[in-house]
Amino acid sequence: MSQQSSTPIFFLCDIFSSIQGEGTWSGRAMVFLRFWGCPLSCSWCDEPLHKDPKARIEMTIDSILKEIELIGPKIPSVLLTGGEPLAVKELPRLIVELKKAGKWLGMESSGVGYDIPDGLDWLTISPKKAVSLEKMERANEIKFIVGPNPTKSQKDEINHWATIHPNVWLQPLGDGNQPNFGATKTCLDLVLASQGRLRLSTQIHKYLKIP
Ligand code: SF4
Repeated sequence: MSQQSSTPIFFLCDIFSSIQGEGTWSGRAMVFLRFWGCPLSCSWCDEPLHKDPKARIEMTIDSILKEIELIGPKIPSVLLTGGEPLAVKELPRLIVELKKAGKWLGMESSGVGYDIPDGLDWLTISPKKAVSLEKMERANEIKFIVGPNPTKSQKDEINHWATIHPNVWLQPLGDGNQPNFGATKTCLDLVLASQGRLRLSTQIHKYLKIP
């Protein structure tokens, strides 16, 4: 998380260019800013770097902008992810500068952290615990991570949002970087029974074995 100062320092664990492998923008080239740190500790988290102190990189807004231009000079889209970008206090200042640089800006969040900042072109909320109604309704996309045996309360929550939000995805919980076909089958069954309200997100980057 960043510190309060006139020149904020952001803690990241990775910046890389690739394609988005999940959800609505699957296949779109993006520069990914992966923030270090997350207030949650999901047992199945597949992003171990964000908790590794050795992986923490300290960057200023200027150094982030330079790195984005270096690795993705022809890529107009930037995705803020983590870890948990919404737990980064100075994030709005970075967003302002990224927008000045002309970037399409998306954010993927569990919803845990500060208020949703202005300036985002796209917000994905992937709830891991209860998220305020305001944040859920602000999301352009809601993505539920579903294991092979979802609880009744998770299914109820999925069905609830499927009836009131136009863009709800189910993403099978993987085994680290490997697909879990039990979870995939469960998601598929829910999608097929949803009368077209749910969509399946399969993390195509993992099948293609690209970052
Ligand atoms: S919210 Fe996301 S980044 Fe944080 S621990 Fe859970 S899965 Fe990992």
